[in-house]
Amino acid sequence: MIAFPGPPGMHAVPPLVYKAEAYEEGDRFRERVWTCSHAHQTVEESLRCGNEWLARHDDHVSESA
Ligand SMILES: [Zn+2]
Repeated sequence: MIAFPGPPGMHAVPPLVYKAEAYEEGDRFRERVWTCSHAHQTVEESLRCGNEWLARHDDHVSESA
């Protein structure tokens, strides 16, 4: 299971730049299993990016370049 905790701004990211991140649910260390390579201007964008990544990895993991 992969979950997105609240706004990414809680992490050490520069203000006004957001990155979509995925965490292993149940991992108490909150180790990132994925981070997008973009620099989103809004939380909404990063969340959408994360959701797209989730959707791609939800059923069968596939290489989509
Ligand atoms: Zn992104």
